Amino acid sequence: MTIDMQYFDVYYFCHLANESMGKFEYIKTNAEFTERHFEVPPQDFPKISVLREYCFWLVDRVLCEQADSISILGEVVDFDPICWMNQAIFKYKQIDTSTKHIFDDYCDDYLENYNQYIEALDRISEGLFYEVVESVAVEMEYILFQNRDFLLRFNEQQASFFENNPRKRTYIPEWVKRAVLFRDKGCCVFCKKDLTGLYSLLEDNEKHFDHIVPLSEGGLNDVCNIQLSCQKCNLIKSDSSRTSTLYQSAY
Ligand SMILES: [Zn+2]
Repeated sequence: MTIDMQYFDVYYFCHLANESMGKFEYIKTNAEFTERHFEVPPQDFPKISVLREYCFWLVDRVLCEQADSISILGEVVDFDPICWMNQAIFKYKQIDTSTKHIFDDYCDDYLENYNQYIEALDRISEGLFYEVVESVAVEMEYILFQNRDFLLRFNEQQASFFENNPRKRTYIPEWVKRAVLFRDKGCCVFCKKDLTGLYSLLEDNEKHFDHIVPLSEGGLNDVCNIQLSCQKCNLIKSDSSRTSTLYQSAY
């Protein structure tokens, strides 16, 4: 499976995700996402991870927030979401929407225009807006999935909603094990011991797929909450939320 990475402002959104995680001033905004767990309880190890869902939600939320602030202030502060979306559509779909007159009736209220614009995009291609937001979200997930410090803070935030109602331990699917083994390069994230069995022979029970935020603390059964650990480090970690920020440098 490959991803065609276009990096269209993807680092900007990753930065927003990383900066907002666990910070007091953003708790209320991010809670809008986490509170959705109350309405639709998370599945165990969904193929579309909670991290992907968050990335999708964040891009959509930021675009809408921008449109709203232009509407109130009457001027563009950070970026113009309609211009941004036109460029993103061209980058990801090679469709030039900037020259097309797609509004039915253009009005003075920016937010109204923005909502009309999203609807009008459907007439060019059904679901175009959400396909492009999804493309950005997939790239964000790819980048953020590598960042275990972010994953720890992200999962702690999700876990705060399940502290009193912990998720049950369940079978970890093979695709999750493969994904985590691949990301952590077959090594224990804490002591870097090779767990592939290629450099040293392992006991059968030595490879641990460990919850970054434990189930007992409200952690989710989700691919973004699992890390690779050796038996020794797993015993030391016990039932605490912990990860490692050590990575092997390429040179
Ligand atoms: Zn270890």
